[in-house]
Amino acid sequence: MRGPQRITIDGPAGAGKSTIGEQLAQKLGYIYIDTGAMYRALTWLALQEQVDINDGPALGRLALSSEIVISRPNIADGRQYTVTLRGRDITWDIRSAQVTRAVSPVSIHPEVRTVIRSRQRAMAQYGHVVMVGRDIGAVVLPDAELKIYLTASLEERARRRYAELVVQFGQDNPALPSMQQVVSDIQRRDSIDRENMQPAPDAIIVDTDNLSIAQVLEIICRHVEDKA
Ligand code: C5P
Repeated sequence: MRGPQRITIDGPAGAGKSTIGEQLAQKLGYIYIDTGAMYRALTWLALQEQVDINDGPALGRLALSSEIVISRPNIADGRQYTVTLRGRDITWDIRSAQVTRAVSPVSIHPEVRTVIRSRQRAMAQYGHVVMVGRDIGAVVLPDAELKIYLTASLEERARRRYAELVVQFGQDNPALPSMQQVVSDIQRRDSIDRENMQPAPDAIIVDTDNLSIAQVLEIICRHVEDKA
């Protein structure tokens, strides 16, 4: 089948982008690229090197000097991919609460976005990619053949994120954040990310509130077939 070469999936935190993106890529035999991991890896490095997260030019330089490598998972520990930076496997480090708190303030700097967006374009140049993020359809790949924008209510997104954290931490772990913390984290990220999170004018908007993963996939696959 000659389908869309580049598929973008954007939307806010907890809308289901990574689960759907990974499964869609697998189904089509495409490469799955989660662009949030790139911003998270840079944020992890900034925290390590004590670079001020409010200093755009310094973060831009750090982005230029850092080679973030995202590759197929090399360990079967539930990861979707492996993230390496300067030879170190940081796949799980970039999921920490500390990185999650700092990633939106880091990502907002134009100096950072210029560097990371150009890397994302390079990664997509040969096609056969499902690229997931916030601004991929609108800014990074405006010529992508199929653009999806996933939405869901704040309550539903928080519920999904909380369920993921329960699996990650275990129900009785005192480090498990409360539901209220999860809600306020998503709200805070939404308000900072809003600036770089617009659906492309030709994006297909899918409200996932009352849909299962399988149903969302089915809707997207129908659009893939329409484009083929
Ligand atoms: O998708 P994820 O929650 O891992 O993304 C982490 C953060 O990275 C987002 O909250 C946002 O600040 C930033 N991001 C972005 N543009 C993208 C992907 C992620 O600004 N394309």
